[in-house]
Amino acid sequence: MQSSLRLDTGKHARKIDATRRIYILSFVSYIAGAVMVLFGFMSWDANALLLPTILFGGGSLFFANILYFQLTKQLDSACQIEAVLVAIFVLALIYHGGHNNTALYWAFPFPAILFGLLGVRKALLSNAILMVLLIVLLLQPDALLADYKEAEVSRFLVSMLIVIVVCWINDHFRERSHEAMSALQKSKDMEANTDPLTLLVNRRYIEANFAQQLHNYPQHYFPLGVVMCDIDHFKLFNDQYGHDVGDEVLKTVADIFRSHLRPQDIACRNGGEEFLLLLPQTDLEQSKSVAEKIRAIMANQPFMFGSIEAPITASFGVTVCQEQSHFQAAIKAADQQLYRAKAAGRNQVH
Ligand code: GH3
Ligand code: MG
Ligand code: MG
Repeated sequence: MQSSLRLDTGKHARKIDATRRIYILSFVSYIAGAVMVLFGFMSWDANALLLPTILFGGGSLFFANILYFQLTKQLDSACQIEAVLVAIFVLALIYHGGHNNTALYWAFPFPAILFGLLGVRKALLSNAILMVLLIVLLLQPDALLADYKEAEVSRFLVSMLIVIVVCWINDHFRERSHEAMSALQKSKDMEANTDPLTLLVNRRYIEANFAQQLHNYPQHYFPLGVVMCDIDHFKLFNDQYGHDVGDEVLKTVADIFRSHLRPQDIACRNGGEEFLLLLPQTDLEQSKSVAEKIRAIMANQPFMFGSIEAPITASFGVTVCQEQSHFQAAIKAADQQLYRAKAAGRNQVH
């Protein structure tokens, strides 16, 4: 039986984070792309085409990448391509020097952009690589077209390092606090969807999360066996042995479901001493034989609680659901079948 709840807890948080990355990707692509093309025009010189080429080339590649994202919606690969473009652009600009050797100023926003696009680990790695390449490049002034002052280079490298470290600390702890909040949310959701006595899922889980799963992945579930199970004469049992022993029965019944259902099956405590078993990709005949197997195990197994040995039986109503819109009707039909099993003498499957 399903050992952990399928709760899509982080979905909302992941959506917000994806939106954040889309904003950064769009900002860098559209705004930086436009600024680069504009500067490309402004620096146009037929005798010195390298700078306009870097600016036009970079700007067009940023536009091409956002177009790729709009067409494919592949956010991860678009962000990775963007990061590579950013790094190449920074290196090319610093190699050239830009207008009046001002290229170093333009490099400062890029560590933060890499963190925004890539997430902490990948961003730290790419910033480290970028930093090493910048050091290698700037420590060989003769190989550069640009003409930076020595003091300018050393201060630039130290400032870049500070920007990278601050961005890293910031993003690292932002990610940690995000993870801690997701874990807290997950444990609250688990609590809200679990019956504390039997540790089975409760009706809330079925109505909210499971119904959504049926809607999202019908191919994994239908035909869905729907089995309603109710312990026989449980009121009498409680009266005879006490409520605490009754609780132990409920826990033992939950253990029987846990050990005799398939991993993909779901057992829900529907309320009181009534359980709902949901059997994915199981037709009516197979569902009836699963119910019969569980019925026989319960009827044949002596329930031992200290010195008390008590017979416990249950009745079962079985139906099958073929599509999500019939789910509630199928539960109702299983309930009616259960009523028939009770009326026909209990300890049986209908
Ligand atoms: P039937 O065979 O017709 O189902 O009879 P029943 O006595 O099982 O059904 P009824 O609905 O009359 O009584 C259900 C009993 O289940 C009453 C209630 O005390 C008991 N019950 C419900 N929830 C719990 C629980 O959490 N713990 C215990 N020990 N008993 C519970
Ligand atoms: Mg009962
Ligand atoms: Mg009942």
